[in-house]
Amino acid sequence: MSDAALETRNLAKSFGGVRATRDVSFSVGAKELVAIIGPNGAGKSTLLNLITGVIQPDSGQVLTAGKDITGWKPHHIVRAGIGRKFQVPSTFEDLSVRENIEVSVNGPGAARGGGMSVDTILERVSLTAKADTLACNLSHGHRQWLEIGMVLAIRPRVLLLDEPTAGMTPEETARTAEIAREVAQVCSVVAIEHDMSFVRALDCRTVVLHQGALLRDSDFQTISEDEEVRDIYLGR
Ligand code: ADP
Ligand code: MG
Repeated sequence: MSDAALETRNLAKSFGGVRATRDVSFSVGAKELVAIIGPNGAGKSTLLNLITGVIQPDSGQVLTAGKDITGWKPHHIVRAGIGRKFQVPSTFEDLSVRENIEVSVNGPGAARGGGMSVDTILERVSLTAKADTLACNLSHGHRQWLEIGMVLAIRPRVLLLDEPTAGMTPEETARTAEIAREVAQVCSVVAIEHDMSFVRALDCRTVVLHQGALLRDSDFQTISEDEEVRDIYLGR
């Protein structure tokens, strides 16, 4: 029995002979901010794809708020409260920032009701000053924030971010860490990230994946001083 916002139990997935995810068990509390790190090939994207139903596990379970959502279709998982910001753009280019958020607010998640106002979402993702800018005129970083806002609009219990700072400037990366921390005041946030400077700025519980398995689960300070984690990142 678990009422965690998100929980995986012994989640496993192999591709041919590659064990991409090996019995990964972890849980995320309500409004908790968690970073999942690991070198390329550690299994981070596979874990996210298993959680969001993009691929099915060989064994193990995914639960949200005590409900077993293993094997559910991606759109049903979104409705169960697991929102994901995709790496591919999902914005409407010829609509303004505000209109993009409005579309999401009135989208499939609207049935859940009682969400944040468009203005509150704009503020949360640091785009109030860009409300009337067309999406096609946004910088790369601002576009990423808009996409976070669009996921927030569907009122997720958990927001999943897959390498949210890829391609961002150092300033945008720092601001994205602040946004993630602020968003964690309204829902749980799980950020999968390769960039250590971003994880350092998040300064939150950090889960380390290595060769598909969960290697460490601790605060960032402890993780950053861990010899084995350092060796893995330096490829020694
Ligand atoms: P990360 O996101 O941490 O870089 P991935 O989850 O993308 O890691 O990959 C984990 C391992 O699984 C890698 O060895 C990768 O080559 C393999 N893998 C991932 N997806 C597939 C797939 N669709 N087919 C075959 N192998 C895959
Ligand atoms: Mg990846």
